[in-house]
Amino acid sequence: MKSTNEVASNNYDNGGKLKLAIQKSGRLNDDSMKLLKECGIDISNGVNRLKADANNFPLEVFFLRDDDIPQYVEDGVADIGFVGENVVYEKNKEVIEVEKLGFGKCRLSIAVGRNEEYVDANYLQGKKIATSYPVITQAFLDKNGINADIHEISGSVEIAPGIGLAEAICDLVSSGSTLFMNGLKEVEVILKSEATLIKNKNLNAAQQQVLDKLIFRIQSVKKAKHNKYVLLNAPNDQLDKIIALLPGMKSPTVLPLATEGWSSVHTVIKESDFWDIIEQLKELGAQGILVVPIEKMII
Ligand code: ATP
Ligand code: ZN
Repeated sequence: MKSTNEVASNNYDNGGKLKLAIQKSGRLNDDSMKLLKECGIDISNGVNRLKADANNFPLEVFFLRDDDIPQYVEDGVADIGFVGENVVYEKNKEVIEVEKLGFGKCRLSIAVGRNEEYVDANYLQGKKIATSYPVITQAFLDKNGINADIHEISGSVEIAPGIGLAEAICDLVSSGSTLFMNGLKEVEVILKSEATLIKNKNLNAAQQQVLDKLIFRIQSVKKAKHNKYVLLNAPNDQLDKIIALLPGMKSPTVLPLATEGWSSVHTVIKESDFWDIIEQLKELGAQGILVVPIEKMII
């Protein structure tokens, strides 16, 4: 007779363990590791930086170049992956996008020389465009009925116009400072991208169950990041108005303060509404406003 624990671990051996591919080093590595940590998944035994087992979750992490992740997930070498949407669309592999991860935000844009007169995409007619994203760039050109010559290069795309290799580029942008330093201006955003969770099309039921658990944790972490816990002291004669400003998850918690005529109000507000609401709360006489980050949020 097997103990429950043995049965559970055997379930994982029978295919419930997930192999996750993340970027080995680069812009997505830190945030990918951080997200796993925030999901309570401990992979501190990653001394061998090719792969590492999680200690407390049925997960094995593979460290790879981001460009290779869609292919590995399509082939089932990895079951799931964290990778930029830009790479997912460019590689166009048979994988399923499951959940955006909230980091690695950037845009894929067309840029031309700062002094060029660019009115619309017709500017690109007959021009040379340097890019590491030929598939997405071609789709953009086709959609706009433009015939241009795509010149694929693997890195330092932003220097192409300066050295006479191309008249325009299509490259990833976040702040735009790299473009600026190279005398370029951004003229079209053709894709907005962030890191996303992709999965293989043929996960078995046990693997899907583990993935559902992981997604639930990721969603709780994401929700928590978008919200803040707010504590404040409110004069009782303004309580109704203050509560009306604070929707909370159900409704705010209100506790009497030791000082007569005052209450302590606790609630959760959306980060995006934060400054607006805080201003109004102050006008209504709220004092001692504390805004606290939330680690996980399960609703
Ligand atoms: P690898 O060695 O894994 O191939 P890489 O050099 O292709 O790495 P990075 O520059 O580390 O890739 O970028 C990885 C991903 O980070 C990009 O594909 C994109 O999704 C995201 N990213 C976010 N902001 C930017 C940015 N400003 N420039 C480039 N990529 C960005
Ligand atoms: Zn890459």
